[in-house]
Amino acid sequence: MGDFLNIPCPICDGAIPNEEQEGEYPGATSRFDNKTEICSACGTAEALMEAILRSDPHDNDQPLSVRFQDDGDWDGWRGCVLIQRGILEVGNY
Ligand SMILES: [Zn+2]
Repeated sequence: MGDFLNIPCPICDGAIPNEEQEGEYPGATSRFDNKTEICSACGTAEALMEAILRSDPHDNDQPLSVRFQDDGDWDGWRGCVLIQRGILEVGNY
């Protein structure tokens, strides 16, 4: 336990920035609102998720992440990150 906030990651409930270095330094900032602190693994998953969504040439609509952000749909966003991390199966959410 270090000096930073010892709250669990709001996406995966894991330690911030990670289990091995809990509380030793800040985690990542969620792209959902640019202020929620999340763990390193979820931060990486968010970056991957955005890259995949933005690179889809068949999706002429807004990126999924933008839709979640506009709707303030944190649960939907959280589910996507967990799926990206392989924690949730697509069909289970
Ligand atoms: Zn996390």
